[in-house]
Amino acid sequence: MADIKPPQPDPTWSPETLLVHGGTLRSQFGEISEAMFLTQSFVYQTAEQAEARFKDEDPGFIYSRFSNPTVAMFEERMRLLEGAEAARATATGMAAITAALLSYLKAGDHIVAARAMFGSCLYVVQDLCPRFGISYTLVDGRETEAWANAVKPNTKAFFFETPANPTLDLVDIAAVSKIAHDAGALVFVDNVFATPILQKPLEHGADVVMYSATKHIDGQGRCLGGVVLGSEKYLKDHLHNFLRQTGPAMSPFNAWVMLKGLETLPLRVRAQCDSASKVASHLAGRAGVAKVLYAELPNFPQKALAKQQMLGPGQMVTFVIEGGKPAAFRFLNALKLIKISNNLGDAKSLITHPATTTHQRLKPEDRLGLGITDGMLRLSVGLEAASDLLADIDRGLAAATAG
Ligand SMILES: *Cc1c(COP(=O)(O)O)cnc(C)c1O
Repeated sequence: MADIKPPQPDPTWSPETLLVHGGTLRSQFGEISEAMFLTQSFVYQTAEQAEARFKDEDPGFIYSRFSNPTVAMFEERMRLLEGAEAARATATGMAAITAALLSYLKAGDHIVAARAMFGSCLYVVQDLCPRFGISYTLVDGRETEAWANAVKPNTKAFFFETPANPTLDLVDIAAVSKIAHDAGALVFVDNVFATPILQKPLEHGADVVMYSATKHIDGQGRCLGGVVLGSEKYLKDHLHNFLRQTGPAMSPFNAWVMLKGLETLPLRVRAQCDSASKVASHLAGRAGVAKVLYAELPNFPQKALAKQQMLGPGQMVTFVIEGGKPAAFRFLNALKLIKISNNLGDAKSLITHPATTTHQRLKPEDRLGLGITDGMLRLSVGLEAASDLLADIDRGLAAATAG
């Protein structure tokens, strides 16, 4: 009789295989597609079983704020993909980042973070942490020396994104992790822009990796979600209890959407990268384009580092239109296919003007300090045919240069 149990992950499996089969829990009905367990809590066969479960002596589920079978499948599939000891899902990417940092840090600690960061992450570091007695230093993440110079006796965490939003600046994960570890600090990496397909921060020395699953992991613009990955020890000593008691849990419905998203993640990321590469070379050197930032282009300042720690240049292309904001806006308003949106990692190509949206709240001098000029546009390349995207970009360029 054939066993209906899902196949156990084999250490020789490639990511593509892990993402289709890894972490599957199959019910007595033998369903092929992962089941969605929309339940808040669980029943026990006996009082003794309930007692044992609360004592952690029986491995079942208790309450979906703690864990849920569909969420557990998503966590295990992510864990296998990332090659981490442990993974926990959260309601959003920001819940993942906030929980990862605040479960670990305490009053009197110091955090060093890269200045070029997702806006809400900056809020956590600059506004939230100090309210609880956690001080911070912001550095230019590209300068490895700057990380070393920012270390204090009470430094407990390094935190950065690489590539960073929207300039695609890179942080040398291995070099910076070494500095952190010499100082006794943990390294937290927001790996959203790279995706788990193109970059494995843990292999380069990072300790904790966070994702907004809202982006490429869903990849089709439906649900919010997040995930934190790290060592068993970090999870047990810090994250586990924080998540259980404060409750930023991922909904089983969202976990199910994310699980199905993971099945196609490598295919989607590869297709998007192929198109992004075509878009970047199409834009480079065109009249009306002052600059194109894409790790594959010959003039990308951190090309060697990209090769060292990434498996590909990614699906985000940032470029600067000559003529500042008016020209950038003419470009955006002429587009027929690419959508104006601040989101990224979607099947649909999305473009944003960081200076007036995602980075609008920054002081103009701080924005310029990050290299975000008024003509800068950030394009998240989707799954449309590259030829249609190039035609749309030409429409944008014609409008931008006509002004
Ligand atoms: C979107 C994003 C986040 C936040 O994720 P949410 O799911 O929106 O909470 C954090 N970091 C980066 C780099 C992001 O792009």
